[in-house]
Amino acid sequence: MDRMTQTEPSIFTRIIQREIPADVVFEDDEVIAFNDIAPQAPVHVVVVPKTAQYRDVVELAAADPQLLAHVVQVAKQIADERADGEFRLVFNNGEAAGQTIFHVHAHVLGGGLAEGTLGSK
Ligand code: AMP
Repeated sequence: MDRMTQTEPSIFTRIIQREIPADVVFEDDEVIAFNDIAPQAPVHVVVVPKTAQYRDVVELAAADPQLLAHVVQVAKQIADERADGEFRLVFNNGEAAGQTIFHVHAHVLGGGLAEGTLGSK
């Protein structure tokens, strides 16, 4: 479904509302974090603001930079616990960049990533 016509709650909203299961690793009042269902690194956790009002990090940064900073702090905490504190933080912005869920989220990737592996080609 095109994101402009998307009216159903996103998969992430359904996870937040416990309508579908997820392997949750962190949660507070503002964000939830869970293991990605299709991991692309030894550690691959998705950090999702609970609000569904921002479709990507550009919107989030403009409207609520404190919440974006919180997402980064939670990503660091997850990396401290699971990947020796070192991690890659990825926000896909738009379909051509690989975004499939238009509810802002950060990918926390870690656990022995190689140099020169950004992007698929
Ligand atoms: P993006 O492609 O940036 O929109 O990221 C969406 C991510 O959500 C992908 O990495 C998917 O593997 C992941 N994903 C989709 N559905 C689920 C789910 N039910 N539980 C955990 N991760 C999911």
